Amino acid sequence: MTVVSSITSKDAIALEDKYGAHNYHPLPVVLHRGDGVYVWDVDDKRYYDFLSAYSAVNQGHCHPKIVNAMIKQAQTLTLTSRAFHNDVLGKFEKYASETFGFDKLLPMNTGAEAVETALKVCRKWAYEKKGIAENKAQIVVCENNFHGRTTTIISFSNDPVARENFGPYTNGFIKIEYNNLQALQEVLENDTNIAGFLVEPIQGEAGVYVPSEGYLKKAKALCEKHNVLFIADEVQTGIARTGRLLAVDHEDVKPDILILGKALSGGAYPVSAVLADDAIMGVIRPGNHGSTFGGNPIAAAVAMAALEVVKDENLAKNAMELGEIFRDELNKFIPTSSLVSKVRGKGLLNAILINDTEDSSTAWDICMALMENGLLAKPTHGNIIRFAPPLVMTKPQLMDCISIITTTLKQFEK
Ligand SMILES: *Cc1c(COP(=O)(O)O)cnc(C)c1O
Repeated sequence: MTVVSSITSKDAIALEDKYGAHNYHPLPVVLHRGDGVYVWDVDDKRYYDFLSAYSAVNQGHCHPKIVNAMIKQAQTLTLTSRAFHNDVLGKFEKYASETFGFDKLLPMNTGAEAVETALKVCRKWAYEKKGIAENKAQIVVCENNFHGRTTTIISFSNDPVARENFGPYTNGFIKIEYNNLQALQEVLENDTNIAGFLVEPIQGEAGVYVPSEGYLKKAKALCEKHNVLFIADEVQTGIARTGRLLAVDHEDVKPDILILGKALSGGAYPVSAVLADDAIMGVIRPGNHGSTFGGNPIAAAVAMAALEVVKDENLAKNAMELGEIFRDELNKFIPTSSLVSKVRGKGLLNAILINDTEDSSTAWDICMALMENGLLAKPTHGNIIRFAPPLVMTKPQLMDCISIITTTLKQFEK
């Protein structure tokens, strides 16, 4: 029998409102339980989860294999710090390094920490291997990027809400247009102090913006030509979300530095990592970098289980197939609708564009109606709604969801 929550949604929301900082604007739903593609609120109403905690829950909510690995490890050893070895970390490092094809892994906890780690590795490599003069290294980033929330990372964001009144900002970043090879080529040719190019293979937060085919491959070639590290932030696009294990796999690109987070733990625990080969990761020596929790035994056990689930259950293939169906079905619907202008994405990372001004509340109102109808999604920038369900979804479940989405959208036709 279901144990229903001891708190009403009204009371839970009021507590957060009074005692929590207001750094998010959530949909007014209070979740209590999750299983696979579903979550339930405190009144035991069931929803399809079409956000998957920003693609952290690719393996589905409370996956038994991941939860069991976590429980077993939690009852054995939780934290040693890196002052001592533990008997799980090395196994995880080997498993993940082999899975993604790199010599070494550096474990952290959150995505933003892994991005910071990659930036530090890149700068140190630039001074010690490339021979850039002290404090001169520049890292190229893209407009409308999202790489996290630390002071350095927001320094190279161009989202005013994320930046305003958080200065002074960190130097050493050059911003170019995303999906513009000409801009990348120019900056690489005109500045000899470039250490790295940090890029999202698909810009998730910006509204699931998919670059032109060949962009990543050509960008990687330009970086190689100029001895610049190609740094792929796959925190959101990685771990099977886009229909391949990594989004760069669609173009057979191997990044110099790979950043993972979110679904690396299947949403059970904060686990992130930076991977690189010895020629790059070798610049990191004892004392250069660290984290009390990074590489702890629970994280290592959980991440190994989470990666095994992706392989065992063929989640990349499922994401690829269901993604095709999703976009096909929405593309059939769009000509009948004055409200939706476009669907785009790869695998099960998709978004629809709503025909309305950026500052209108239409996308939010649609998400409220989807919630009423049993499906949870959230607008991203402007009038864009991201659809990213857990990758363990079945085809009948997806067809049910497409029906909820199109029925809801029809309610908004004038
Ligand atoms: C979510 C995200 C991050 C930040 O991860 P956190 O765990 O929230 O710090 C970094 N990069 C990308 C592309 C992301 O989507």
